Amino acid sequence: MRLILLGPPGAGKGTQALRLVAKYGIVQLSTGDMLRAAVQAGTPVGRQAQEIMSSGGLVPDEVVVGIVGQRIAEPDARKGFILDGFPRTVPQAIALDRMLEERGLALDAVIELRVDEAALMRRIETRIAQMQARGEPLRADDNAEVLHNRLKTYRAQTEPLVAYYRDQGALRSVDGMAPIADVAAAIDRALPDETSRSLQSRQPEGLKKKVQPSA
Ligand code: AMP
Repeated sequence: MRLILLGPPGAGKGTQALRLVAKYGIVQLSTGDMLRAAVQAGTPVGRQAQEIMSSGGLVPDEVVVGIVGQRIAEPDARKGFILDGFPRTVPQAIALDRMLEERGLALDAVIELRVDEAALMRRIETRIAQMQARGEPLRADDNAEVLHNRLKTYRAQTEPLVAYYRDQGALRSVDGMAPIADVAAAIDRALPDETSRSLQSRQPEGLKKKVQPSA
């Protein structure tokens, strides 16, 4: 299973990705996590990314395309992956299409988490306040001003991907404002049923009707 989770910061991509990882035994590839690790490790990519990330802008396409290209070639990504936070621009999406094609791979679906921006700002502000109250460390880009910037960046640079993937016939939109369990159920309904598909292809004709899709 190869998926993209598309949606603005705070839409719940990470939460849903974790559940899908457990359900399908695939890996979550978050470019945000990879870049934060690079910043932490002080690598050249990290040094280039640090300032951009703390202002809510986007790291250059060639940098993220390079790290994703390396990551999807690793053995643990062979069974499948969920891209969380990538692609974020049309050139990144084009580069991803090319990388997958070169490896003879294809996406199963692009799940768009649709959200109301004003409600999202309130949700994110609440999350920040709760983390502060618990004394948990905040990410450098977890503050209202940077989040405004990140939403603006999303609208300008990432939202065009909705049309890009709709045109490819890969887009599945779900209501990201619903409770987490409802969003999860909507995603499950939107995904191709891989288990029943692979079972069906292995069953002799006469048995096919008896195969029940997994829940
Ligand atoms: P995230 O954890 O996905 O919200 O990403 C945190 C920050 O990392 C973003 O605000 C960007 O600065 C940077 N970043 C993550 N993924 C990408 C990407 N695909 N393209 C460019 N910048 C990215």
